Amino acid sequence: RAKAAGRAQWVVFDPGMRAAALERIELERELGGALAAGQLRLVYQPVVDLQTEQVVGFEALLRWQHPTLGAIGPDRFVPVAEDSGHIVPIGRWVLAEATATAARWQRAHPRATPLSMAVNVSARQLAGGTLVEHVAEALASSGIAPSSLVLEVTETALVTDPDAVAERLTELRALGTRLALDDFGTGYSSLSYLRQFDVDVLKIDRSFVDLLDGSADDAAIVHGLVQLGRTLRLEVVAEGVETEAQRDRLRAERCDLAQGWLFAKPLEADEAELLLLAQASGAPALPRPRPAT
Ligand code: C2E
Ligand code: MG
Ligand code: MG
Ligand code: MG
Repeated sequence: RAKAAGRAQWVVFDPGMRAAALERIELERELGGALAAGQLRLVYQPVVDLQTEQVVGFEALLRWQHPTLGAIGPDRFVPVAEDSGHIVPIGRWVLAEATATAARWQRAHPRATPLSMAVNVSARQLAGGTLVEHVAEALASSGIAPSSLVLEVTETALVTDPDAVAERLTELRALGTRLALDDFGTGYSSLSYLRQFDVDVLKIDRSFVDLLDGSADDAAIVHGLVQLGRTLRLEVVAEGVETEAQRDRLRAERCDLAQGWLFAKPLEADEAELLLLAQASGAPALPRPRPAT
């Protein structure tokens, strides 16, 4: 076995890889009908103002409930949907659904700054020819203010085809939507993209927020990222805030917004609505999490 492992072709027959390849094939086949079968839905994670802990918006996150395979997370199926191209019709549906939901919630809960809705956009959508059309369509049918729609892209999506991407982003800007750089700091040459693309929001990746439980040196990285965003006059969102210590530190750094399990997990639409109602009726802030047992 050890001898076989040394041979290049062994890799092809590695049982783990074989299983992964089979899973991809199965997911790809099943994805074709998932949308029409009503197996896809969106959940909504609240985005909170760190100073007030009031909900200022949501991020829409895809969920796939398959009748026999069960719940399949986006980290498993979005890459498959990207490779197969299924992400284009799925992404179009996500835009329509998320903006329709935002319109409902904005009407029910008017604010000086309307509740925002963030939608993740993948490299394949950004490079393809129909994203701008699909965004325009979603804005028109929902009627939401374009600036309340935030499109989240990763640095990886930006490097895939920078020239085509720059063109798409210019067209999206003309529509009035905002642009967020997701998972900031985990990609390639992050800083040059901030200059090249007109970004409005910086989302600090969870891996950096995790550092806030570590050493002072680690915390310095988060300090640097927040300062960078502030200096460039970007809205800064911390992702994956799980502890009060992280929240307090981010607040002290004057990070604007946060998302994370400390505040709320991604919620079904009706749960998110209840949360908005509770806040409107004067609930102090988000319900405090139960102390860990
Ligand atoms: P993302 O856009 O960076 O989303 C944040 C992820 O962190 C979500 O995972 C969310 O549930 C999770 N999260 C939020 N708060 C916490 C926390 O406090 N602790 C931890 N450990 N995790 C937290 P999720 O929903 O599994 O989504 C994973 C990724 O899938 C997203 O990363 C995004 O890149 C992609 N994705 C999700 N929905 C869509 C979509 O509609 N379209 C596209 N193209 N990609 C999507
Ligand atoms: Mg995101
Ligand atoms: Mg992220
Ligand atoms: Mg991510």
